[in-house]
Amino acid sequence: MTENALSDEEYFEALKKIMTLQGTSQVELKPTCAPQFMSLAKSMGVKTRFTRGCLAGTSYCCILPSGQVHVCPYLPIEAGHVRDKAFDEIWSESEVFIKLRGQVNYEGLCGTCEDHNICGGCRARAYYKTGDFMTADPMSAHCYKRQEGLDE
Ligand code: SF4
Ligand code: SF4
Repeated sequence: MTENALSDEEYFEALKKIMTLQGTSQVELKPTCAPQFMSLAKSMGVKTRFTRGCLAGTSYCCILPSGQVHVCPYLPIEAGHVRDKAFDEIWSESEVFIKLRGQVNYEGLCGTCEDHNICGGCRARAYYKTGDFMTADPMSAHCYKRQEGLDE
């Protein structure tokens, strides 16, 4: 997949196009698992009914057929197992989920980003690139440039 993935520039360009269309369309557009769309929409003044880019661990997770509770289908970090514990306990007590709910636990640019509460960065992309799911989304370098007006 990496070979066919958009470059960082193409990724943000695509998000900008989608959010520009959202500004004039009645159809709700949501670039799933491209959490920076929320930050872009905010800076472009585009209204969206969505509240956060990455929902993993805050209002979303997945339970595998085996019973393992994972942060999201793309991120193989286990938060618990429904054969060992009730799901509601895992959801409210798992260290993994608790970590994901506090910006203070995030590293790099995502940890200090003013748009963290509406974006959060893709934790799966951070994990894939670095092995650490709480570090900065590799796309965050471009978020920073955009916020500084260097990437317009
Ligand atoms: S971690 Fe990435 S792939 Fe998983 S829900 Fe968040 S944005 Fe989507
Ligand atoms: S720095 Fe991180 S939290 Fe902020 S907009 Fe970029 S990916 Fe999202």
